[in-house]
Amino acid sequence: MGFEKREVLLIVGVIFLMVGMIPFVAPVYAMLVAAAVYLGMRLFVKKRKQQIQKDIGEGVCAVCGSKISQKQCPLCDKPEPEKGA
Ligand SMILES: [Zn+2]
Repeated sequence: MGFEKREVLLIVGVIFLMVGMIPFVAPVYAMLVAAAVYLGMRLFVKKRKQQIQKDIGEGVCAVCGSKISQKQCPLCDKPEPEKGA
């Protein structure tokens, strides 16, 4: 189980949040809120990572340097204009 540093920071933050809430709400609610925040952050980070990977994952065109999307360069892989019209 590889724990990222950011993951540890997130857990520490959530624990602080939980401890901070305990004087005001029942501990069980503090735990529930902390768990919800933790899962929400996990989801957010995961989505963000996927988005970044989607953005850079396919790389850039070797010819013009444009961002590749759907395995095509938006500039170089345009459909050829019909010839002889
Ligand atoms: Zn290109």
